[in-house]
Amino acid sequence: MSNDKTQTEITADNSRRGFLKTASAAAVAAGAVGFGLGLANNAHAASPTPPKEEPKKHKLLLIKNVNVFDGVNDKLLMGMGVLIKDNLIEEIGKKFTVPKGTEIIDGGGRTLSPGFIDIHAHLQLNVGPYEFLSAPMDYHGALALWEAKNTLMRGFTSMRDVGGSVWGVKRAIDEGFFPGPRLICSGSVIGMTAGHGDYRTVNTFPRQLGGPAETEMERLGMTYFADGVPEVLSASRTVMREGAAFIKMFVGGAVSGVYDPLDVAEYSFEEVKAAADEADRWNTYLAVHTYTDKATMTAIEAGAKTLEHCNLITEKTVKEAVKRGCYISAQTGVYLSPPPEGFTPAQVQRQQEAADGLDNLLTLCRKHKAKVGFGSDLLASLELKELLPTEFTNRTEWFSNAEILKQATSINGEIIALSGPRNPYPGKIGVIEKGALADIVLINGDPLKDITLLEDPNKNLALIVKDGKIYKNII
Ligand SMILES: [Zn+2]
Repeated sequence: MSNDKTQTEITADNSRRGFLKTASAAAVAAGAVGFGLGLANNAHAASPTPPKEEPKKHKLLLIKNVNVFDGVNDKLLMGMGVLIKDNLIEEIGKKFTVPKGTEIIDGGGRTLSPGFIDIHAHLQLNVGPYEFLSAPMDYHGALALWEAKNTLMRGFTSMRDVGGSVWGVKRAIDEGFFPGPRLICSGSVIGMTAGHGDYRTVNTFPRQLGGPAETEMERLGMTYFADGVPEVLSASRTVMREGAAFIKMFVGGAVSGVYDPLDVAEYSFEEVKAAADEADRWNTYLAVHTYTDKATMTAIEAGAKTLEHCNLITEKTVKEAVKRGCYISAQTGVYLSPPPEGFTPAQVQRQQEAADGLDNLLTLCRKHKAKVGFGSDLLASLELKELLPTEFTNRTEWFSNAEILKQATSINGEIIALSGPRNPYPGKIGVIEKGALADIVLINGDPLKDITLLEDPNKNLALIVKDGKIYKNII
């Protein structure tokens, strides 16, 4: 099966049946080649040959006649062309002389933007809590592949996965077997006993008090339980061994937690600092799940760099985050959408409490020019994940269209870059500039004037390019 065939099917048939057809054919091809290699080499890690063409030397793609939103500036660059060489942006300009054989797409005056980035996603979490704990592990992998393709088709060419195990899914996407966004992952989240990651029953003893070596949440790669500095260090090193791009820690109560209402501050300063320092030694950073002033201030002082959620923090904490150069990784849709099935009354109430905090948080962020990330945190249901594009329009209550688009592109790109040498995709994303990675969407219309266009990606995204490869073209 050639890559062209895969791309044609993605473009022409975005239906569930179409994807399954493509996926199962790819799986058969991959399996056949994979077993062959495995037997021949007697090596488990030899990657099978992905179903794609040999890359052509210096493949050139020119997208001409477009207005460019470069991810940084509020104004469009009118009547431009963007030349892509292999997987990088080679040139942006008005006039080009291109060699024979250059693929040319006439953008017809559409808006060209950097591909969008979801800075807070959980690709592994596609079903409710009971199903998550009880379904076979490879079922989660299969759904993650399905959702990865949907995410890319919504124009999101990168996802920062802030909790869960999608290492195999990431590898299969990166190797070209399946369509999907770039995945920048934390792997398992470090969580304390009775903290956000703890979905064990009260009858389960923690490990160090004679409990089982590991439980479902650990086996599924969702949480590493760690209490005390030595265990936090061990957990931090374990996620780095898995290939984490950054370390994620639960430092406060959660909407969906079992034992920890939102007011709880989880972990001592020393424990959080142990994780932040370990991240620093790996030249990356610590991201923390947090809602309140107390939990957030501890994390900021301990050295955390991205503060996830933050709905209940007050002005002094927003100012401190800005002063220390931290990013506030906010979400709206997950709080404003209906509670997922199976939520207890207490969880529904906490969701409301978090939703009520949004206005204060985002108003303060705007007032103090905090760097706000663009993330979804939609989870536990594939239907809910379809709401990802509404994150653009939800934010218009607090931000201008240009600010929102910058959050989803260049600001999120800055967050990805915090991983430094641990970023699995060296290169710049979230911007249209010479030398940046060629992740691009072409929009029917001008989202700076009308951002609601982005709520319907099927109709309004005419072209999706990731890493220089075309995944959708309906021009
Ligand atoms: Zn989350």
